[in-house]
Amino acid sequence: MANPSLSHLNTTVHLLALTELQMARFVRTHRWPSYRTTQILRWIYQRRLRTIMDMTDLPMQDRVALSQSAAIGRSEKVTVLRSQDGTRKVLLTLEDGMTVESVLIPDDTRLTLCVSTQVGCMLDCGFCLTGQMGLKRNLKLNEIIDQVLTAQDLLMSEEHITNLVFMGMGEPLANVEALKAAVAAFTNKPWGLGWSRRRITVSTAGLASRLSEIAAIGVNLAVSLNATTEEQRRDLMPAASNIASLKSLLAACRRYPLAPHQRLTFEYVLLAGVNDLPADARRLVQLLKSLRCKVNLIPFNEFPGSRFHRPPDKDVVRFQSDLRKAGLDVYVRRSRGRDVYGACGQLGEVSGNQPPVTLTAIETRC
Ligand code: SAH
Repeated sequence: MANPSLSHLNTTVHLLALTELQMARFVRTHRWPSYRTTQILRWIYQRRLRTIMDMTDLPMQDRVALSQSAAIGRSEKVTVLRSQDGTRKVLLTLEDGMTVESVLIPDDTRLTLCVSTQVGCMLDCGFCLTGQMGLKRNLKLNEIIDQVLTAQDLLMSEEHITNLVFMGMGEPLANVEALKAAVAAFTNKPWGLGWSRRRITVSTAGLASRLSEIAAIGVNLAVSLNATTEEQRRDLMPAASNIASLKSLLAACRRYPLAPHQRLTFEYVLLAGVNDLPADARRLVQLLKSLRCKVNLIPFNEFPGSRFHRPPDKDVVRFQSDLRKAGLDVYVRRSRGRDVYGACGQLGEVSGNQPPVTLTAIETRC
């Protein structure tokens, strides 16, 4: 039975869930001047306001009317887990009590924010903790945007986010409308965050027929390959393989319309004794032949109950050098935030239930 105390949740408009067009329509229904659209959008994106009554350039009666018909759509409960390496994992509690995770990763000159698009994930990749949760639901537009605005709220004055990656929980291509609208807000100059599309990357487990939708958004594309034979990919990523075979995924990558400055990124999780052998390296070179791309190797990040292991460093280095010798541009992604379960593939239920003991600080804001 529906919980009567939650019934208002369905009727309140969340301002951060509206596209510019929808906001303009909303403003018209209130019979306000059209410039109010930009005014409101600036308040919620650029000033990151949490309270409608603080929109001081709106007449008081309009603020009251707006408060009665809408809420901004920010989460009120935020928990931050700080890793010893400076990585911060941010947990937002959503309106229905679920949590969503994003990770702020400092690295030399860069500060990357990794955001989620779903609670849980529709896919079942065996090496990924999020995959084991199953799909709880897609995130709403305001919940995706809230992750970015909240991360900005947490920054110190000299910090700013340089890169945004959709590599958190979930499969971004399964929530593409919200993804599109979020990127529109992050890149909009007059009222949004004004970020360049070049600094935004969307990572997919390989929904081949939908890659062109990323091209249309104009952001960078990363494809999680993780295997070099159909059989291996079926074993490691069953649901993703059902959607598209390795062959059709690579064919879609070859057709992908790269802009002149762009190249594809292929991610490859290294699993000891499973896909990190010299023969895997040789096959990977063959598969990526003639593709304009770089490869990010991600040594497996362990979590309780997993059947996989992280390869020793020497095997990672050997795999990298095998690919380099064949002319590929290859990087090893340093694992960050492992002590707060904030590294790739570690976002999921472990963190909610049992915060690791190595935390240097936990902050909660309500
Ligand atoms: N669903 C999307 C985005 C989320 S996963 C995708 O699959 O691309 C982000 C990256 O982390 C993917 O490349 C995935 O292969 C990798 N990954 C997942 N679990 C991991 C783990 N336990 N250790 C290391 N990398 C992992």
